[in-house]
Amino acid sequence: MTTLFSKIVAREIPADIVYEDAQCLAFRDIAPQAPTHVLLIPKRAIPTLNALEPEDAALMGHLWQVIPRLAEQLGVAAGGYRVVANCGPDGGQSVDHVHFHLLGGRPLTWPPG
Ligand code: AMP
Repeated sequence: MTTLFSKIVAREIPADIVYEDAQCLAFRDIAPQAPTHVLLIPKRAIPTLNALEPEDAALMGHLWQVIPRLAEQLGVAAGGYRVVANCGPDGGQSVDHVHFHLLGGRPLTWPPG
């Protein structure tokens, strides 16, 4: 499956990449909602959280290991941050490639809109 984010992985469209390893990529959101707004994606395109299979557990675990290290690298770990995964139309998902938003750099309100 080719997605917009797969094209970023393939360097077919540009992005401000802040982290990469064999399994995942992180880049700055093109429409940031906070001073720090980065998207962390698996390189393998999984369309939504609903499509996750048991064999994806290690990959998802890896992403969650990366998140706090990324927050540290981006300078938001100490102040705090939010991780968001939108799923499906009501969840506000606009790109069908599983991704985590990492938001920080300002106090974030709750509940989200
Ligand atoms: P979601 O709405 O949860 O699916 O999140 C998709 C995110 O991708 C949005 O926050 C968009 O601003 C962001 N986005 C869309 N196109 C690009 C792009 N070319 N580079 C970086 N971020 C993008």
